[in-house]
Amino acid sequence: MTKAPNQFCTAITCMDGRIQDSVADFLRGYYKAQWVDTVTEAGPVGALSEGNPQTTRSVCDRVSISVEKHDSAGIGVIAHEGCAAVPLPREEQIPMALNTAERMRKKFPSMEVIALYAKLNGEIELLKA
Ligand SMILES: [Zn+2]
Repeated sequence: MTKAPNQFCTAITCMDGRIQDSVADFLRGYYKAQWVDTVTEAGPVGALSEGNPQTTRSVCDRVSISVEKHDSAGIGVIAHEGCAAVPLPREEQIPMALNTAERMRKKFPSMEVIALYAKLNGEIELLKA
């Protein structure tokens, strides 16, 4: 039997409007999903990589709905170029994104979690630990 196509995947991403389209396109392609449930914060990898309890709870509550109610196919954690909330170079944001992805794997052990770096020209980089 072939598996039905996935309907949903999940993004933990910045509120920055410049990256929404490219991130959604990438995740739809990566997880072969029709829709992207989008959990936004201002620079989520900042607070989440530090383990900020309030942000972690808020984000995880929303991700749980996507995972449990929408049977999400997988989660993407996104850092990006030119982030106003995390104004750090790519090299410093990458470990934060990878750390956040690892924290999300512990919160959602059944889920694949990938870390991405979105550039403002629309390119998306899949980050490797
Ligand atoms: Zn941002």
